[in-house]
Amino acid sequence: MLTIAISKGRILKDTLPLLAEAGIEPSEDLSVTRKLIIPSICGEVNLVIIRATDVPTFVEYGAADVGITGKDTLVEHNSDNLYEPLDLEIAKCRLMTAVVTGRELPVGKIRVASKYVSLTEQYFAKKGQQVEIIKLYGSMELAPLVGLADCIVDLVDTGNTLKANGMEPLDLIMNISSRLVINKASMKMKHQQIKALTEKLKIAVDNRR
Ligand code: AMP
Repeated sequence: MLTIAISKGRILKDTLPLLAEAGIEPSEDLSVTRKLIIPSICGEVNLVIIRATDVPTFVEYGAADVGITGKDTLVEHNSDNLYEPLDLEIAKCRLMTAVVTGRELPVGKIRVASKYVSLTEQYFAKKGQQVEIIKLYGSMELAPLVGLADCIVDLVDTGNTLKANGMEPLDLIMNISSRLVINKASMKMKHQQIKALTEKLKIAVDNRR
């Protein structure tokens, strides 16, 4: 049995067609079921649908053999214990800094709100900019509007969320897409099954280009 941990939401939505092309389909309607472990129709795979930030943890500890989550989450998690053999080229977006439209950043130390504490720290350290990072778990756009932060670091896709809140993107930190990650022990123990899955997913990704 192979266990695949998949990030909920946008990534799950974009992953299901790729998995279907690789012959893996959930045996239950994911939008209805309350089950946390969903077997595949083929009976050889279990799917666990979890928060993006938990995917690297599950895979690192071998609770899942394989995971699918965003590059943002993987860089923030910063583990040497995962193989990352395939860019699935889905849920593409950009990790950016953003500010209230037209507002300049203050001189000196700035306050930055983000859920990506480590990524944010590294980015501003490289620029030689002193920052105080305010860790938030969501609705980052709110922080500059209520005076909690001077800018934010968040994912931007269409830019509509920023615009709707009177903000604009400033600098690109990195381009993001979802990746396939694999537990190192599983790679040895379940080599054939994982190799076959990776190859089928690669074909599905290539077919989409
Ligand atoms: P948008 O308004 O299209 O720029 O989307 C921005 C909002 O969607 C922000 O709240 C982001 O955190 C979130 N978002 C954008 N792209 C992704 C993605 N690929 N995965 C997860 N969240 C995303």
